Amino acid sequence: MSTSGNSEVLIPRCLCEIENAENLKVDLEDLASVFISWEKGIVSELKPIKIENKKPKKILFPRFVETHSHLDKSFTWREFPNFKSNYEEALSVNLEEHITRTTRKVIDRAERSLNLALKNGYRAIRSHIDTNEALGNDIWDELFNLQKKYTSKLKLQFVALAPLEFWNTSNGEKLAKKFSQENGILGGVLVPPFDKAKIKNYLSKMLLLANKYNLEIDLHIDESTIEPGAGIKILLKTIDRLNIKVPITCSHLSSILSLNDNEIINLGRKIADKDIKVIALPLTNFWLLNRNDKSTSLNRPVAPIKQLQKSLVDVSIGSDNVQDPWYTFGSYDPFYLMTCAIPMLQLSPWERLTLSSILLAPSRLLNLSWDGLIKKGCPADFVIVEAEKWADIFSSNLKRDVLINGELYG
Ligand SMILES: [Zn+2]
Repeated sequence: MSTSGNSEVLIPRCLCEIENAENLKVDLEDLASVFISWEKGIVSELKPIKIENKKPKKILFPRFVETHSHLDKSFTWREFPNFKSNYEEALSVNLEEHITRTTRKVIDRAERSLNLALKNGYRAIRSHIDTNEALGNDIWDELFNLQKKYTSKLKLQFVALAPLEFWNTSNGEKLAKKFSQENGILGGVLVPPFDKAKIKNYLSKMLLLANKYNLEIDLHIDESTIEPGAGIKILLKTIDRLNIKVPITCSHLSSILSLNDNEIINLGRKIADKDIKVIALPLTNFWLLNRNDKSTSLNRPVAPIKQLQKSLVDVSIGSDNVQDPWYTFGSYDPFYLMTCAIPMLQLSPWERLTLSSILLAPSRLLNLSWDGLIKKGCPADFVIVEAEKWADIFSSNLKRDVLINGELYG
C-alpha cells in the first residue's frame, strides 16, 4: 500500500499552518482551499490553490483524539440497560455488571471499541477503567498488552477509575507503582454529597501517591446538580495545602455552570493557574443529570466552556460512555460527537476555540508528540470527508477516508 499521495482539500484555517499564505482563499466558514501532498507518511507540501472555477469537495481533519471514554463497559447496554436513564440508576446497574465482569469480557469490549474508533478516525484515546478492591488488579497486564498491540495505529492511555479511598490501600499503592512503569493515570470520583473531612484526607493521600510515583490524576469531578463546585473547591484547597505539583485533569466539572459568571471566571483563573486541564462531557451530562420524566427542562449542567476558555483554561470536549448504562448511544465516532455537541453548546465550528477544544486541546491533554496542526513535516494522519461546508458534516451520511501515516486504513 502506498504511503504517498496528494489531494486538493479544504482545511479549517485554524487547523493548518501554511507558508506563503497571502494567496490563500478562505471561505466564510473559515475553510481554506489547499493542495496537500505527503511522502512516506509525512506531509511534504501544503500550499494555497486557486479556486476561480472550482472549490475542493473534500474537507481534511487531523485524526481525532478522544480524551474521555470507558472502554471497559462499552456496549453493555443490552445486558445492562438503564431505562430510568439517570445517574443513580446508571451507577447501580454498573455495579451489577461488575459482578459478571471478567478480563476476557473487558478486553473484547475494548477491542470492539478500538476497531470502531480507528475506522471512524481516532488516533488516540484516554479510557477510564473501573477499579476497586473487589475487582482486583489482574486485568492491567492484559490492558497494557492491548495498548502495545494497537500502538502503531492508536495511542491508548488508561486511568484507573477507583473510589478515592482505594489509593490509600496496599493494592492502590501496588497499582500506582505498576503505573509508574506503564504510564497509567490515577482516577477517582469527587461528586457531592460527600463527607468533607474524609474526602480531604483521601484526596491528599491520592495526590501524595501521584507525586511519589510521578503520575497524573484524572478525576470525575462535580458531575452533579447539587453543591455547585464543591469538588473543585476542595481539590484547589488541598493542592494549596500540600504545595505539590501533580498534573491534573478535571473531567465533567459540570455543576459550576450554576455559579454566576464572576465566580466561574475566578474559579477558572485558579484552575488555569494550577495548570489543571478540563474535559467537558456534554453528552452524558445532558442525558443523565437533572432528568425529570414529567417535564422538559433545559436546565442541564455542563462545564462552562466559554467562561473557562476566557480564564485561559485548556478545555477539551470528550464523548464519555458508549452504549452502556451511563449513555445509550454513540459509536466512537468523532463526527457524532461534533454533530451533537456543537449545536447543543452553541459553539461555532468556524471559530478557532471550538475546533481547539475538539482537536488541539485533546492532543495537548494526552501529551501526544503531534499537536494536530496540519503543516509541512507533520504525519499524514488524516480524516478526509466528502463535504464542502459544515452543514455537510453535520447533516449527512458522511463518507470518509482515514489515512494512518499516509496509508488508507480499512
Ligand atoms: Zn466518565
